[in-house]
Amino acid sequence: MKLAFPTHRDRSGRTIGEEEWLEVQEVLRSGTLAYIYGKKVRKFELAFAEKFGVPYGVATSSGTAALHAALIYLNTEPGDEIIVSPITDMGTVIPILYQGNIPVFVDIDEETFNIDPTLITNYMTPKTKAIIVTHIFGAPCDMDPIMKIAMEHNIAVIEDCAQAFLARYKGQIVGTIGDLGCFSLQQSKHITTGDGGMVIAKKDRQFGRELRLCADKGWPRDQWRDHLFLAPNYHMTELQAAVGLAQLQKLDNVVRDRRKSARLFSELLGDEIGVYPQRIVDGGESSYFSYTFRLDPTMFTVRVSEIVKHMNREGFEAHCGYLDHPLYGYKMLRDRVTFGKSGFPLVGPWGSYEFQEVLCPIAERHCRETIYIVWNEFFTVEHVEAMADTITKVLNNYRRNVRVERKV
Ligand SMILES: *Cc1c(COP(=O)(O)O)cnc(C)c1O
Repeated sequence: MKLAFPTHRDRSGRTIGEEEWLEVQEVLRSGTLAYIYGKKVRKFELAFAEKFGVPYGVATSSGTAALHAALIYLNTEPGDEIIVSPITDMGTVIPILYQGNIPVFVDIDEETFNIDPTLITNYMTPKTKAIIVTHIFGAPCDMDPIMKIAMEHNIAVIEDCAQAFLARYKGQIVGTIGDLGCFSLQQSKHITTGDGGMVIAKKDRQFGRELRLCADKGWPRDQWRDHLFLAPNYHMTELQAAVGLAQLQKLDNVVRDRRKSARLFSELLGDEIGVYPQRIVDGGESSYFSYTFRLDPTMFTVRVSEIVKHMNREGFEAHCGYLDHPLYGYKMLRDRVTFGKSGFPLVGPWGSYEFQEVLCPIAERHCRETIYIVWNEFFTVEHVEAMADTITKVLNNYRRNVRVERKV
């Protein structure tokens, strides 16, 4: 491929421009870079909350920090269990471990790539305190059954929306369906402050800690010094919030453009046999963090990883799976490399948790059989056509039947 592709790694694939520059200049001129003395972080939090139609948001230093603040807010007990998908960023799981909680991995749905709601109750115990749902690749989870389970068992739902800005489920924006919505503003997400995050909340419910204090050393700032409970410092800076304010204005168009090019790509891929794009649940709308599709391995003469290598040789940046294997297969979790040699919290007074391979067979197959394409708001018709052409060409090279039939 001769065409240059926009990338989120630099300005070619980012919406950073004059608006951000003006906002940042304002902060620099003011000499106030810290949120506790400034106005930009507060302004960004309010603007973000308003955009999502919720009463408040708390800005954080990363998406991982946002998820950690959300768990601190829930005030779980050490040894409590949190249900989570094995196909997500490790940033979803790290906060669970830091909070002394146990990640309980529930397998994904083969077609939607999101946590399979029909499996969740099999994994519920009296120690289950929350479900963290990741709307993976921008596609919403099937929230109705998940919220029903949470309601019946009186447990919390945290939505990890790091990849799903403005994705919708039955009309509702994701992040506003569960108790808390967490976002990442890291460089690769729909909008960015370099690093950064946000927690939004619909309301204060029974869990009862003040969300802001969960990212601010447990310190109610209306007093000279007081620390009410253990919490880290996860502040966003004024400089980041300045960028965030300008970026937020561009979010609608970013999502609109990603949807448009993804729709075209789906149309072009539509006739390819053995290709199954991520299924969007009924009533769902993806915001296309990535475009991910499964291949039926029986239709091809080589493994998906070989097909991807061939695409890469054609100058096409694609990956075999978002992860090499489900999260529990990475050393941190597999060998329980946590606090010293303790294995805590996977080893504790409550017992010992070990993650075996094939814990989640569908997720394991998913990693081997999917092609993951990082999506971008600056993809043009030419980019999309070039990608589709390359895929068609490479797939045809490895078709089992020489005669390529068309899907009806
Ligand atoms: C990016 C991401 C995170 C972590 O966010 P950071 O800002 O990198 O800490 C968590 N969950 C998902 C699904 C992500 O994509």
